[in-house]
Amino acid sequence: MLRIKKDMVHHHPPTDILTEHASGVLSVAQSACVAAHLSYCQRCRHTTERLEDIGGAQLERLDPVAVGESVLDRVLARLEDPEPLRYARSEASDTRLPGLLDRLINGDYADLVWKRVTQSLSISYLKTGDALHEFALYRIAEGGRIPEHTHGGSEMTLVLQGGFADESGEYHPGDFVIREGWDKHTPVALEGEECICLAVLDAPLRFTRLRHRWLNPLLKLRAG
Ligand SMILES: [Zn+2]
Repeated sequence: MLRIKKDMVHHHPPTDILTEHASGVLSVAQSACVAAHLSYCQRCRHTTERLEDIGGAQLERLDPVAVGESVLDRVLARLEDPEPLRYARSEASDTRLPGLLDRLINGDYADLVWKRVTQSLSISYLKTGDALHEFALYRIAEGGRIPEHTHGGSEMTLVLQGGFADESGEYHPGDFVIREGWDKHTPVALEGEECICLAVLDAPLRFTRLRHRWLNPLLKLRAG
């Protein structure tokens, strides 16, 4: 069962990310993060459906040679996939990603192994089979702070529980944030509830302050 909280989502994936998701060219881990947002957000579900319709119509008109082989392979793979990742489904016994995603969206964090990074931050690394992207849950104690950091790559974040604020705004369950490059930010969990976020990274976090930099070697990318 999808948990949909209407009118509570204020931060959405940009259209280019939805387009890549709709055409099946996002990586597994990134696509899972977008799919999780869609389970909260009717607006983006509708946009994605429209993009899929447009993509399907364009594909029919295209000369097969004009479609890049990798894109075509992925589209074909998706057509053959009986359980597209796009929507999380509820199957309690299913340990593959869509089942896992559904559990996470529904707040079931049982059995996860948490690695404590700082007093207020723990991380649980999850397996997706995506060789290029780390897919992890970040648990921040209420009012806790993730030390100032940069990425050197892209970071997709989806709030699952609680919320956080950073230099750019305040984020609640279902909100999607994407950051690229070397932007520095210092997320702080909102008071009242522990914050749990899904984060998909293609480069490891890098703490910038001297007193946290010694932790950086622990934060190597755990993709796969
Ligand atoms: Zn949305």
